[in-house]
Amino acid sequence: MCGIIGYIGKEDAVPIIIDGLKKLEYRGYDSAGIAIYGQNGFDVVKQKGRLAALEERLSSRQLENNPLSGHLGIGHTRWATHGEPSDINSHPHVGSRNKIAVVHNGIIENYRQLKERLEYSVQNSEGVTFASQTDSEVIAQLAEHYYCMDNVNAGDLIDTVIRVSNAVEGSYALGIMCIDEPDVLIAVKKDNPLIIGVSDSGNFIASDVPAVLKYTKEVYYLNDKEIAVIRSGSVQFFNMDKEPLHKTTETVTWSMDSAEKGGYPHFMLKEIMEQPKVLRDTIQSVLGEGANKNVFDNICVSRFKKIAIAACGSAYNAGVTAKYVFEKLCRLSVETDLASEFRYKDPIIDNKTLVILVSQSGETADTIAAMREAKSKGAATLSIVNVLGSTIAKEADYCLFTAAGPEIAVATTKAFSAQLVLLYMLAIRFAHKLGLLTEYDEQELFVEIAALPYKVSAILEQTDAIQKYASTCVGYKSIFFIGRNIDYAIALEGSLKLKEISYIHSEAYAGGELKHGTISLVEENTLVVTISNCASLFGKIMSNAQQVISRGAKVLLIGNCSEIDDDTETEKLYYISLPHVSDIFSPSLSVVVLQLFSYYVAANKGLDIDKPRNLAKSVTVE
Ligand code: GLU
Repeated sequence: MCGIIGYIGKEDAVPIIIDGLKKLEYRGYDSAGIAIYGQNGFDVVKQKGRLAALEERLSSRQLENNPLSGHLGIGHTRWATHGEPSDINSHPHVGSRNKIAVVHNGIIENYRQLKERLEYSVQNSEGVTFASQTDSEVIAQLAEHYYCMDNVNAGDLIDTVIRVSNAVEGSYALGIMCIDEPDVLIAVKKDNPLIIGVSDSGNFIASDVPAVLKYTKEVYYLNDKEIAVIRSGSVQFFNMDKEPLHKTTETVTWSMDSAEKGGYPHFMLKEIMEQPKVLRDTIQSVLGEGANKNVFDNICVSRFKKIAIAACGSAYNAGVTAKYVFEKLCRLSVETDLASEFRYKDPIIDNKTLVILVSQSGETADTIAAMREAKSKGAATLSIVNVLGSTIAKEADYCLFTAAGPEIAVATTKAFSAQLVLLYMLAIRFAHKLGLLTEYDEQELFVEIAALPYKVSAILEQTDAIQKYASTCVGYKSIFFIGRNIDYAIALEGSLKLKEISYIHSEAYAGGELKHGTISLVEENTLVVTISNCASLFGKIMSNAQQVISRGAKVLLIGNCSEIDDDTETEKLYYISLPHVSDIFSPSLSVVVLQLFSYYVAANKGLDIDKPRNLAKSVTVE
């Protein structure tokens, strides 16, 4: 959610910042802006809408012989939380005295009180008038207040940043420039991500690695309440007591290619197609040597009486799916909660509970809060994340990495698949540790898991039928998804994927629940996507399909149904068959068809698939 990029160095900052913002577009935004430390001080251009609109503004400046340029600057893509998307509310924000320019990702919860205090001083002729409706502007104004007006340590930028950090409540990642320090870029964060990239030609701050990957693979991950003072040739770190900190860079293993579209029309399609490799890498991360294997080996399952899974969006659906697998294999009670509910429900957990947190970015605000709630109640925490160095990765007691590489499309595909496979493998290992699976059985299941990438490849090699069927579905106002048991769990993800990117209303229902609700909405030509992989429930789910067909609906049946052949297909029933796999692993195959279905429906509607309206990739606010 929101993108920050800053640069200080030998090159012109403008193209670097614009390029970085493009790399961060996937995070979701509604406006963008850039501030350069130019010849006459801060030069700010802000624009509601897409980056292309900001670029147009920059081009017209060029035509007017007034190009934006400089060696220090900050840029931002805003996902509005306080104040409508507008030019004025876009970042960067500059204080009224033109001393401090700021880009902010996050929410300042006590901005009203701070704003009132700063405005109140107007009556004492020292106050400020706010230009925007944002919470973020308070940071620029407050920083100027401390920097200029306060007698204590006035004029000291680090002291100012410390005082601002201590005064604001909420979450923030900040890029800061000061008019008196043309050679310095400041970064500080709390609860929102910020990295610092270092290179010979200059240094960067960014919300995420893809923004700097073109220039460097050496990055520092900033921790909460650490301040980075960045110059062209150096980076210094301080804590909130202004003591210097020693930090080391980490080398990013992602390649530039992995953050580019690579010939596909959309990142989403590219990422769907990458799933065999992602699954292979993730499986290998457990079966080979490395950090994931160590977690699998070291975690002591017998101390847990219960597992709780907390996550948001698709990661929650991975948790719902995993519940079926853990309960079946481990005979342990599993509760899956939305992280936003878990954090406030006073969950019944203790030191005999393992809380699993699932988050692609590792920065999901509600999942971070759920993790902290779990820790405060003494539960053990295990995270499943895709971003090394992220808050959840660092704070959880155990961390498993999904080897998905950078996921750019807002709607998750490959990271979801990687989460799922790690959860299956964890359930298998736990069951073995609990004495419920012999070593032989465990190995057999791992062999089956290792075959999943090949089966996913087989699906991806034959997308024609899905593509063709999806092209007939663009006119639907509503599409339902049904399944039973674990097929229901993956129906939830199919439904979410469709609504996220195609803007078609959709709902997932457990097959048995149909007659308690959704069936009243079924009419002539309603589409009901029906998932059927559980052989023992085939008859049951087919009765549900028949019930909707009798009421005029069409059924798209996805699964491994040996009883279905060409003759069973009718005008009302279209069947896409999946390779055979044990019930518990079938979601890994169903989901690929569901992703492709959603993708092709949205593509046929000509929508902005990688950046669906109003959605953000990494939801760093509550
Ligand atoms: N809360 C800030 C605003 O509404 C920043 C939002 C963001 O992270 O983009 O301007």
